[in-house]
Order: sequence, then structure tokens, then C-alpha cells
Amino acid sequence: MTVGARAKKSFFNAETNSWESAAEHEAHAHFTSQSTEILIFPDAVMPCRSMLDANYRCAKAHCDKAHHTTSLVKFIRTLDKATSTLDVVCFTITCDDIKRAIQRAAKRGIRVRIVTDANNVDSLGSDIRELSEARKIDVRCDAHSNDPNKRGMMHHKFAIIDGETNDPVVITGSFNWTRAGVLDNHDNVLIARNQPDVAAPYIKHMEALWKEYAAFQIHGAEG
Ligand SMILES: [Zn+2]
Repeated sequence: MTVGARAKKSFFNAETNSWESAAEHEAHAHFTSQSTEILIFPDAVMPCRSMLDANYRCAKAHCDKAHHTTSLVKFIRTLDKATSTLDVVCFTITCDDIKRAIQRAAKRGIRVRIVTDANNVDSLGSDIRELSEARKIDVRCDAHSNDPNKRGMMHHKFAIIDGETNDPVVITGSFNWTRAGVLDNHDNVLIARNQPDVAAPYIKHMEALWKEYAAFQIHGAEG
């Protein structure tokens, strides 16, 4: 039997590494949600609010923002699908559309944890302090350290969505969560959905960083 002929009647189950019938496949339907999506930046323009807010209708006669599904729209819609947790490890956040998506997650009751670079927290345009002021969002940064072995930047750009569920999503790639990252730089993002083997090392590293930087909690406004 050729693979082509078999493929018409059977489905490959990556978890059991075997072919299965349509009925078996139906029973294991959650496996079909495994997917990998690649986003390429830069986008030509920022998205119109109507692409990110279902309740907003763009009434502008000549709106110069994108009214199609740009890479940033796909990125943000992935964040918007978080149902229980959102863990972010990134160099900095200056893109306000991404900031708002993180704030929406917290408003939905999702536990948000962010690990970021200490030197960027108060740099121009940084959204980190504003995010840290929200309930349900905890921010820690890498230590300002005199130890020459620990002077490297917190240069990751990854996130884990719903890491404690059976459907974890990992977002990773070269893309900085910044406006320049959206509109200027050549960058990529890989979104791995429902691939626990991919998620596991990211989850493990997030937990290690969270523990390591326990003493570097960022609080919002003083007092
Ligand atoms: Zn518009």
C-alpha cells in the first residue's frame, strides 16, 4: 500500500506514532489541534483597532491602519486566546497593542508573569512599569549584578500560554515585543500549539528564572 493510498483512509497519530482509523482519529480529535505557525515581521503598518477589538467598528473614511490579518494581529489574537496563564520572558515591551493584550488577559482573570531585562524597565517607551501596576500581573527582572558572569541581558523573547493545561502554546523567535519590532526589523515568530514536548523546556526555564529573580519583583507606583 502506498502512503498516498493509506493517507486517504487513515490518520497519523503523532503521540502513538501509528496510523489510526477515522473513528479512532475522531476519538483523539484533540491531537488535530497540534499546529505550528510562523509569523514574519516587519508589518507594513500597525493594525486598525477594529482588527483587535470585536466591539470596535472603524468609521474612518481613510483609515491608514491595516484592516487585514497582519503578523501582529495573529500574534495578539494568540495572546487573546489564553485561558489560564500567560508567562512572558522578554527583553522589553514597548508595543502598546501587545501591552493592551496582556492587560486584557489579566482582566479575564488570567495569571500573568513577566520576566524582563532590568536595564529596560525605565527606558523611554517601556510598558513594563504600567503592566506591573495591574492586579494579576507580576513582573520580575534579572538582577543588576556586579557579578561579571551575570551581566548578560535578559534577551529571550518567548511566552508560554496555558502552560499547565494539556494545550500549551509557545510563542518564540527573534521578534522583540516593541513597535520597532513590528514595523522596522526583520524578525520571525514561531507559534507551537499543543506540543507539550516543545513547551516543557520553556516551562522549566520560566520556573527557574522566576525562582532565581524572586528578589527582583517590580512594583508599580511607590507607596
Ligand atoms: Zn480602521
